[in-house]
Amino acid sequence: MVESRPPFLYIYLMLLRYILLLSFVSILSSCTHSISRFYPEIIPKKSETVLSVRPDSKDELNIVYMGTGNLVLEKNGEAIITDPFFSNQKLLKLLGKVKTNPSLYNTWKNTLEYFISPSVVRAGLVSHTHYDHAMDLPLLLESHYFKNMKVVYGNTYLPEILQNFKEDGVRLASLTKEQIYDPTTKDQKYEWIPVTSNIRVLPILSNHAPQIKRKLFMNKPLDERYFEEHLIYSNSKTKAFKWSAGETFSFLIDFLGSDTLRVFLQTSASQHPFGFPPSEELSKKGVDLAIVCYASATHVDQYPNKLIDFIQPEKLMFVHWEDFFRTPNSFHDQRLVRSTNPKKVRKRVDRLDKPKDYFIMPLPGTRIKVKY
Ligand SMILES: [Zn+2]
Repeated sequence: MVESRPPFLYIYLMLLRYILLLSFVSILSSCTHSISRFYPEIIPKKSETVLSVRPDSKDELNIVYMGTGNLVLEKNGEAIITDPFFSNQKLLKLLGKVKTNPSLYNTWKNTLEYFISPSVVRAGLVSHTHYDHAMDLPLLLESHYFKNMKVVYGNTYLPEILQNFKEDGVRLASLTKEQIYDPTTKDQKYEWIPVTSNIRVLPILSNHAPQIKRKLFMNKPLDERYFEEHLIYSNSKTKAFKWSAGETFSFLIDFLGSDTLRVFLQTSASQHPFGFPPSEELSKKGVDLAIVCYASATHVDQYPNKLIDFIQPEKLMFVHWEDFFRTPNSFHDQRLVRSTNPKKVRKRVDRLDKPKDYFIMPLPGTRIKVKY
């Protein structure tokens, strides 16, 4: 006899799921904050700015901040792109389906090409596979936008999600255990990945802060059949909740040269010691610039303070700070991300006891010339 689930239990579970999803939306929609409630003095007013890491600087790195975890880091005509994303979704779409947005793609391309040529991008890094870090990759792959991009590194979910885009000329590489440094295990081996002869990357096992208080959504095991059947073209619609986070990484990125620049990048807040780079590497060479996530900072204990105390970077940049559930009308039209209390983050930042010029929080669409 085939046993079927009692209908009352089924209804109960459906109701519970519905209530949980509604609470997700209501909490996220409740609080959007004006920029002035955090730390407005660290936001450059213009779309081009300079960040000086060393006083007697000779070299420079260009960083273009495109919003959320999406950055392009370029030196001498070689660049990497991180967490490509431009299709800002309205909040309610998260309960249904999301789709890449061609008009926002055009805006994004115009902004990017104002600062750099897409031909400089050699590789991509994806920190985890939530929709706001990976959902626009299919369009970029399908349109061959970065004609010199050979590889995109990410977690094991990434190639599965993008399995219908494997023939688009870019290798979708899931990072292996040997390549990833795990800060929670003693004497962990790790391998730097040479991206070009001048850029190398070290992936670090991190984790993902809950989006609201203690609950991390979009964190179930991947349903790879779903993406095989539903993400067929770049403009296919997919359920936002199917974009599971998977393993989450932070990265050390070295721009090698007679004077190497070391960047630490973390595009989602993590619970310490997850995401911390190996101290052995820090003792060889300090971090010049730490790029860290603002969103959900207050949902993890002592973030980003523990991390910053550990890394001791020369400068600190906040990203993933703007409300990505809306589309801004202009460069300056930005609000702070929802569900992260700006006053609480500010208190933590004040506790770092650093001067104002230690920090930078660029508006999306800003180029930062890092002098070192
Ligand atoms: Zn995420």
